[in-house]
Amino acid sequence: MGETNMQTLRKVLEQAEANAMAIGHFNISDLVTLKAVFEAARDLNAPVVVGTSEGERQFMGVRQVAAIVKSLREEYDFPIFLNADHTHSLPSALEAAKAGFDWIVFDVSTLPFEENVRQTKAAVETLKALRPDILVEGEIGDIGSGSEIHDAAPDLQKGLTTPAEAKQFVDETGVDTLAPAVGNMHGMLKSMVAGNTKKRLDIERIREVKAEARIFMTLHGASGTDDDDLREAIAAGMTVVHINTEVRLAWRRGLDGALAKQPNEIVPYKVLPQAVDSVKQVVAARLALFSTGRRARPAVQ
Ligand SMILES: [Zn+2]
Repeated sequence: MGETNMQTLRKVLEQAEANAMAIGHFNISDLVTLKAVFEAARDLNAPVVVGTSEGERQFMGVRQVAAIVKSLREEYDFPIFLNADHTHSLPSALEAAKAGFDWIVFDVSTLPFEENVRQTKAAVETLKALRPDILVEGEIGDIGSGSEIHDAAPDLQKGLTTPAEAKQFVDETGVDTLAPAVGNMHGMLKSMVAGNTKKRLDIERIREVKAEARIFMTLHGASGTDDDDLREAIAAGMTVVHINTEVRLAWRRGLDGALAKQPNEIVPYKVLPQAVDSVKQVVAARLALFSTGRRARPAVQ
């Protein structure tokens, strides 16, 4: 979708980088969540990325979600972009690239480091040969899996990204963006859902990884993170922040509320707006926070 007269995704990231701000990335599974993200972004006039994991885009249809996002971008002349989040194989990445996705997160981070490098490099080459304008993200380290509510926190200490391996990974693979493990984690703990605890990030590690990798960096698994840590993480070099679990939680709460309030209503478009509003509030709050960065940070090459 990069062929339109609009700003390209790369330009949007460069702008965010220059202003020490971050672009919000929100996962969607349906029109309710897409409408919520799009309306919140338009209200704030903030460029935005919607993401679909392999499961999310299988549900929506790979070509169908690409067509809907493209139609919003064109009709409203608005910088909304589409990311193929956590894509675990080259065929799956190619399917998304052919459908018109702007960005692919090629994630084979569970493999040993050298194999991760080898497969990610091959994916970058193949995807860029097909679509020179597409952005490819690589992932190193362990940030857990499943944007869901977890009973207990996994031990991610051993999987934290080091500045040296970040530099080596970026140099050898040619990725456009890097997803490091810096204390972030997919999903939320029950105590976070209840509002009793927050995720904390390793800000110094973000700064060190950024200084070595000198590339756009994406913070995955940011749902439930302390607001000040998010501001610090963005100031230290995070260019994009992924929110999924908070979106899912807001969707569920909005839908539960709507159904409880109108137990006999069967018209979807009379029930679902409450779910849209619930998600929209979460997205708007996060977008406002992401765009408040002001401090200088190390430049991207
Ligand atoms: Zn993620």
